[in-house]
Amino acid sequence: MTDPEFDIFVIGGGINGCGIARDAAGRGYKVALAEMKDFGSGTSSGSTKLIHGGLRYLEYYEFRLVREALMEREVLWAMAPHIIWPMRFVLPFHKGGVRPAWLIRLGLFLYDHLGGRKLLPATRSLDMRRDPAGRPLKPLFTKAFEYSDGWVDDARLVVLNARDAADRGALILARTKVVSARQENGAWVITVENGNTGTRRTLTARMLVNAAGPWVDQVLAGVLGYGDRRNVRLVQGSHIVVKKKFADPRAYFFQNPDNRIIFAIPYEKDYTLIGTTDRDFHGDPADVGISPDEIDYLCAAASEYFAAPVTRQDIVWTYSAVRPLYDDGASKAQEATRDYVLKVEDIEGAPLLNVFGGKLTTYRRLAEHALEKIGERIGAIGAAWTAGSRLPGGDFPVQGYEEQVRRLSSAYPFLDRPHAERLVRAYGTAAFDLLGQARSGNDLGQHFGGDLYGIEVDWLMVHEWADRAEDVLWRRTKQGLRLSAEQVNALEEYMAAVPAASVG
Ligand SMILES: Cc1cc2nc3c(=O)[nH]c(=O)nc-3n(C[C@H](O)[C@H](O)[C@H](O)COP(=O)(O)OP(=O)(O)OC[C@H]3O[C@@H](n4cnc5c(N)ncnc54)[C@H](O)[C@@H]3O)c2cc1C
Repeated sequence: MTDPEFDIFVIGGGINGCGIARDAAGRGYKVALAEMKDFGSGTSSGSTKLIHGGLRYLEYYEFRLVREALMEREVLWAMAPHIIWPMRFVLPFHKGGVRPAWLIRLGLFLYDHLGGRKLLPATRSLDMRRDPAGRPLKPLFTKAFEYSDGWVDDARLVVLNARDAADRGALILARTKVVSARQENGAWVITVENGNTGTRRTLTARMLVNAAGPWVDQVLAGVLGYGDRRNVRLVQGSHIVVKKKFADPRAYFFQNPDNRIIFAIPYEKDYTLIGTTDRDFHGDPADVGISPDEIDYLCAAASEYFAAPVTRQDIVWTYSAVRPLYDDGASKAQEATRDYVLKVEDIEGAPLLNVFGGKLTTYRRLAEHALEKIGERIGAIGAAWTAGSRLPGGDFPVQGYEEQVRRLSSAYPFLDRPHAERLVRAYGTAAFDLLGQARSGNDLGQHFGGDLYGIEVDWLMVHEWADRAEDVLWRRTKQGLRLSAEQVNALEEYMAAVPAASVG
């Protein structure tokens, strides 16, 4: 065989695949990545959307993971201050509760001091009889701790990594499934199939990265033909979105009698996000959906705390995803390690890197570790560079959100304030490119509902691989919460009429 076209071929456009592709492209490797559906459509858009150390994991002595994740909070915030921002969490407790106050205090002391906290404020105690955070809760909860973590728009984090990888020269293929990969003379020959056209093509690479998330074992068995493998344990987590339960900008961390925890988080201005559940999953991760038991569980767990109960009638949306946890043989779903494991197999001279587990919060470090392993096998080029880098649109100071909204509003005075805020949150400084020469509301194009207009949809189709209404409504934005069924149809028709976008 002549020299392979690519150094690295990545299977899977979730956060881990896109993070690895971006890091590798930035170092100068020739990179290709294929995602069988939409970027982030697997596990990476179904998370609780926290950039967090994982307070709960301290109970399982996951100090390495918690420390790395804590350190990443401010690194990621600086990389993408539009889609990542600090959030304060209120952890109410009462005498005779699930964990004694001293244990929680100790956990939070470690959390504050394990590493990396420079700008995020430290833990403090709250008197819930006086603090506004106590108002929506039952009077039983007179005390609480308040601590720092971060919020992330998970689906946008994925697509911005894909965008940046492409801008740095990577070939990024959306809706393209890897159907087979085999070795030939020390290189990989990879066959991919376009999901829209059915067209197949073959690419060659020196190293293969299997970042298929919950499909990682399926790729080993089916695409690579290695027979049955059991490296990951699939654990389902579901969330409910309800009408806004409280006005406070802080989120809640609730402990449940079964030792689990759930979060109640301010969401998309008018809603509250509640989750997650944690239960073993069997089946195809693409078919995951919330069960009636999970709905009851989340409503009941939140109603233990809120004075006004959370009922099924309050629910406006639900979503579910499957965690691909490295199978360390732990007995309960919530006890399986949340840490990631990278394993290289050398097959007839063509190396394969498998990615097991991982969190959104640690994706950048996972990518750096992956690049170390890749460098050992195919030769290292470039140095680690992503700490201190900016994702597209994130080139403004971490405290600069208000200033960005002010700038955008004065450049485009016809935008109402919530619209300008949403565009800055989604696109950061790229909101100016998106709006371009627009001089009045008429230049925004067709109105689809919410504050979604043709100008944004066109931008997403050209720059962010949006191909269907659901990509726009549930991943690039959350305007799906605001559109009626008719409006969704109109968007579908509009997008179908546009010829396949030429991005990449
Ligand atoms: C309920 C829940 C809550 C979570 N909350 C948090 C949180 O708050 N904070 C945090 O840091 N982490 C959180 N996580 C963890 C985090 O979301 C995941 O670890 C992470 O998203 C996994 O990313 P991934 O890239 O490995 O997998 P995925 O996002 O699933 O990506 C894998 C991709 O591979 C593609 N693929 C599969 N097979 C093929 C093929 N043959 N060809 C081409 N493409 C293929 C799939 O379509 C998929 O898009 C949560 C996870 C869950 C489930």
